[in-house]
Amino acid sequence: MLNDRCQIECLDCGFRAPYQPLETVCPVCGGAWRQAIYDYAHLASALPPQLKERPFDLWRYRELLPVTQPAPELRLSEGGTPLIRALNLGMMLGCSNLFMKDERQGPTSSFKDRQAALSISALKAAGVREVVLASTGNVAIAYSAYAARAGIKLWAFLTSLVPAAKMREVALYGTQVIKVTGSYDQAKQVAAEFARQRGIFLDAGARSITNIESMKTIAYEIAEQLGEVLLEPPANGLGAARPRWRAPDWYIQAVSGGMGPLGVLKGFREMYQMGWIDRIPKIGVIQVEGCAPMVNAWKQGREIAIPIQSPHTHIATLATGDPGRTYTLLRNWMLEGSGGAFESVSDEEAFRAIHFLAKMEGMSVEPAAAVACAGLIKLVRSGQIKPHEVVVMNISGHTLPVERTILGEGWSRSVVVSEAMQAGAEEGLLAALSKITIDRFPRIAIVDDHPEARRLIRRILQSQGDYTLFEAASGREAIELAQREHPDLIILDLMMPEVDGFGVIEALQAQPETAEIPIIVVTAKELTPAEKERLRGHIQSLMQKGDFMSDDLLDEVRALLK
Ligand SMILES: *Cc1c(COP(=O)(O)O)cnc(C)c1O
Ligand SMILES: [Zn+2]
Repeated sequence: MLNDRCQIECLDCGFRAPYQPLETVCPVCGGAWRQAIYDYAHLASALPPQLKERPFDLWRYRELLPVTQPAPELRLSEGGTPLIRALNLGMMLGCSNLFMKDERQGPTSSFKDRQAALSISALKAAGVREVVLASTGNVAIAYSAYAARAGIKLWAFLTSLVPAAKMREVALYGTQVIKVTGSYDQAKQVAAEFARQRGIFLDAGARSITNIESMKTIAYEIAEQLGEVLLEPPANGLGAARPRWRAPDWYIQAVSGGMGPLGVLKGFREMYQMGWIDRIPKIGVIQVEGCAPMVNAWKQGREIAIPIQSPHTHIATLATGDPGRTYTLLRNWMLEGSGGAFESVSDEEAFRAIHFLAKMEGMSVEPAAAVACAGLIKLVRSGQIKPHEVVVMNISGHTLPVERTILGEGWSRSVVVSEAMQAGAEEGLLAALSKITIDRFPRIAIVDDHPEARRLIRRILQSQGDYTLFEAASGREAIELAQREHPDLIILDLMMPEVDGFGVIEALQAQPETAEIPIIVVTAKELTPAEKERLRGHIQSLMQKGDFMSDDLLDEVRALLK
C-alpha cells in the first residue's frame, strides 16, 4: 500500500507531488534528483505512542516510508537487526561505546535487504513484472530474493569483478545474470541501455526514492536501540532519566556509491527535525584506497568528485568510480549537520580487520564491512573519534568465500582415526591425539584487576597460539601465582589497588626463583618520566592500553618466549 501522505520534492525546481512508484524524474523540469518529505510536524508527536505496539522491523516506521505496508507474501523479516557492543575491539581501541549494527542478520545478510524489501514492494504495488539493475553483488542478491517472492523477473548486470560465488547466488534465485567485463560504472551504462531498448523498469540506485528511504530505517532503529543501552560513563549523571531516543556521535559505513550513508543521514536529519534526537551524528565515510573518489574530493575541498576511471581493488562491492551527485548531496548534508570524515583504507588493512572481527568479536563479515572497521580504527588512531564518543558501524555479509585469502596455510591439525583404531582402541587413540599438540605449552600469567582487560588479553593469546594461561586479579594474587606456577611470561597491569604493578615487579625480583621471568607491562596509565625510570631494566616491554592491536601484543609475546 502506498503512503498517500508522502510527497516527492524536486531538488532542482522544488516541484512537489504525491509519490508515484513509476515516476522517476520531475514532471516539471525533468530532474532526476528528488526527495521524499512527510508531515513531520504531525508525526513528531503522533508517531511515538503508536510505536509501542509494533514489532521491531522495517515497517515499524511506515508513516515515514513511501510504502506503508508490503504485500504480506513478500515479507522475509527485513530490518530490525540487533545493535551489538564491540567489547574487545572497543577495549583494544580505548573506545567504551563502540557498537555494530548487525545487518548480517537480514534475509540475505546485507543492508541491501531493506532497499529490496521497500523497492520491490513499491514496484509490485505498481504492477511491474520485470526489473533491470546493475550491481556490485549485494543489491542483486537482495533484489533477487524479494523478486522471487513478488513474481518479478530480474535482470542483473554484474561487473566481472564480483566473486563467482556471489554471482551464482544471484542465479540460484532465478535471476538472469549478465556478466559485464568492465567496471561497475560501465555495467550501469550497459544495464541502462538494455532497459531503455526493452522498455523495462530500471532501478535508479541513489536516485530511487524507495532506495534512499529504506536506508533511513537503519538510523531510526539505531536511535531507538541506543535509547535502551547503558553508555559509559553514564551520560546524564546518576538518576537522571535517559532519553528514549539517542543519536550516536558517529555512524561509520564503507561506501561505494554513497546511497547508504545518504539515506541514513536523511533519517537522522528527520529525527532531529522532529525533536526526537538532540544531534545529527558525524558520518564516517570509508572507501578503499584503489577507488576513493569521495575521499579525494573531500580532502581537496571539492564539491564535485572526480570519477576514478579504473578502480584498483579486490573488494568489488566498493568499486563505484563515479559517485556523481550523491557525493555532493552527502557532503552538503554533512556540512549542514555535524560533519564527519572521509577516510580510505587499503585492501590489506580491510582483510586484517576481517580476521580480528572474527577472532575478537565472533563476527564473520565480508570485506566491504571490514573496510568500515579498518576505517574506524584509523579515525580513532588519528584522534578524530574521541574515547567516549558513541560510535556505530554498519556490519554486513559473511567472510565466505574469501577466508582462504585470510587464513593462509597451517590453520588446521589432523587426526587419522582409522590408523589409530587398528592399534587397539585406547592406545591408538592416545597416540593419535598426542600428534595434535605437544604436552607443555608456554605458561603465561595475565595480571589485571579489570576482568574485561583480562578477557581481552586471554582472547588475543588463545586465538592464535598454544599457551597455558593463568589469571590474577590483584598484585597479591600475582605474586602468589608466580611463586606457585613459575610462568614463562607475565603480562602485568600497573594500576591496581593495594599492591600495584610496581610492587609486583619489586616482589618478584627480590626472589631468585621469580626474578628472571620476563614481564610485559600493559597499562592505561600515562607514565611520568620518573615512573618510566623506575621500570627501566626491570621489564621487557611496555604497551599502552587502547593503543595496540592484537597482533602487536602477539609479536611481543612470541619474541619474549623464544
Ligand atoms: C552496498 C554496500 C556498500 C556500499 O554502499 P553504498 O551505500 O552503495 O555506498 C558497503 N558495504 C556493503 C556490505 C554493501 O553491501
Ligand atoms: Zn524539477
